[in-house]
Formats: sequence, structure tokens, C-alpha cells
Amino acid sequence: DSFIKFDDVSHGYGDLPAQGKFAVENISLEVHTGGFIAIVGPSGCGKSTFMKLTTGLQKPSRGRITVGGNEVNGPLSFSGMAFQAPTLLPWRTTLENILLPLEIVEPFRFDFRKKKDEYIQRALKLLESVGLKGYADKFPWELSGGMQQRASICRALIHQPKMLLLDEPFGALDAFTREELWNILKDLWTEQQFNVILVTHDLREAVYLADTVYVMSKSPGKIVFKREIDLPRP
Ligand code: ADP
Ligand code: ADP
Repeated sequence: DSFIKFDDVSHGYGDLPAQGKFAVENISLEVHTGGFIAIVGPSGCGKSTFMKLTTGLQKPSRGRITVGGNEVNGPLSFSGMAFQAPTLLPWRTTLENILLPLEIVEPFRFDFRKKKDEYIQRALKLLESVGLKGYADKFPWELSGGMQQRASICRALIHQPKMLLLDEPFGALDAFTREELWNILKDLWTEQQFNVILVTHDLREAVYLADTVYVMSKSPGKIVFKREIDLPRP
């Protein structure tokens, strides 16, 4: 029951495909439903390209990607994303930032107008689960970096995505805040069982969080190592 499947996928930008040179090359992998994978590798190995391919923001030069049994053909609405730097809009409160995907992502807009109160309750619950109870009406600049990153994770989860894509979301945080956020993410994942793809430089983070770790090398970006992590789960 694989949810995400890459079947011999290669992708290059510009003229690279024509020259047979790719940013990522011959990627094959499967993520089972509810699975949590981490991709570790140096900068430039193709981690962002992998993310863009998974969410349909790029179409692969070669090979086939399916998510939930369907070939990916354009941006997927059922994914949530968080990035290295928090990307909250400064003129919106924390709550308004978290609700943003519901206002702009097509299949949710109609529902959001009808059930706004329900979604606000869900946002407040998410905020509480990441330790930000009471911060709904604060603006981003009133929060610390770590708190903004927690709010970004709430925003990525507000529409109950089937997959969560995390691009170095803990990279800019101090070690203490980072480990706190690891545990928050682990709890959310254990509770809600969405798929997670985490891109990181930090092998320790990958092993702590993911159930399967892939290591990529660069030029071209290839998976050179796969390891299933067999640690007891909470
Ligand atoms: P990472 O996220 O691991 O740093 P990227 O996926 O961003 O890696 O990049 C992989 C390779 O593809 C790099 O050699 C990079 O220069 C190239 N690349 C990425 N995006 C583009 C683009 N839009 N146009 C041309 N080359 C790109
Ligand atoms: P970080 O950016 O790693 O979260 P900070 O040193 O900025 O760390 O903040 C440490 C702690 O101080 C936060 O986890 C939070 O509990 C508290 N804090 C920081 N900024 C604020 C704020 N604007 N309002 C309330 N508490 C704050």
C-alpha cells in the first residue's frame, strides 16, 4: 500500500535533459501510507527538486510519479509544506496565517466560507498542540523564531493534508528548540498518520524522526543509501 511512488524518475532543468544530465537521476522509491521518510544529502544534490516533483510543481523529464494511485500531473492540493525560514505574512496574525491555505487553495475555499468557525477551532487546537495556546492574535514579529516555525507547521497541517513536506524546517533553530519541535512533530504524526517527507542535512534528525532514511549524493542527484529505522515508536 504505497502512497507515494517514484518509478525511475530523472529530472533536469533547461537544456540538461537533452544533454542527458539531470539534477536528480533514476530515483525509485515508495512511501507506504502513513510513512515518514527523510532525505539527507549535501546542498545541490536535488532535495528541492525531489520536493517539487512530489508536489507536482515540476513534471519529471523521465519516469513516473504516482501519489495515492494517481499520476502526478500538476500541483497537489492535499499536501502541506513548511520551509527552513518561517514564511508567515507579517500583516496577518498567527491565526490568520494558519487559515491562509484554506482561503487560497481551491478545493477548500468553498468549504472554508461555510465552516469558518469549525476551521478556527481546528487552528486553535493545532496551536495548542504545538505549545502556542494564547498566541492566535499575535503577529509574527511578536513571536520568537521557534514559535514562528511552530505556527508554520500548523499552517501546513490546517487542511489535514495527506502528506506533509518539510524542507529543513528545523535548520535555523537552536538545539533545544529543535528537539522540542522534533517531539511535537512526532506526536502530531503518530496521532494523525499523514505521510511525511523531510529533507534535512542532519542525519541524527533523520534517524530520530523517520521510519526510512534515504541518503543522496550529488552530480547527478542519486539515492546512494537506504536504511529502514527499526526503533520502537511511541
Ligand atoms: P538541493 O535542494 O539539494 O540543494 P536542488 O534540487 O535545489 O538541490 O538542485 C539540484 C541541482 O539542480 C543543482 O545542481 C541546481 O543547481 C540545479 N537546479 C535547481 N533548480 C534549478 C533551476 N530552476 N534551473 C536550473 N538548475 C536548477
Ligand atoms: P527561539 O527563537 O529558539 O524560540 P527565543 O530565545 O527567541 O528562542 O525564545 C525563547 C523562549 O522565550 C520561547 O520559546 C518563548 O517561550 C519565549 N518567547 C520568545 N519571544 C516571545 C514573545 N514575543 N512572547 C512571548 N514569549 C516569547
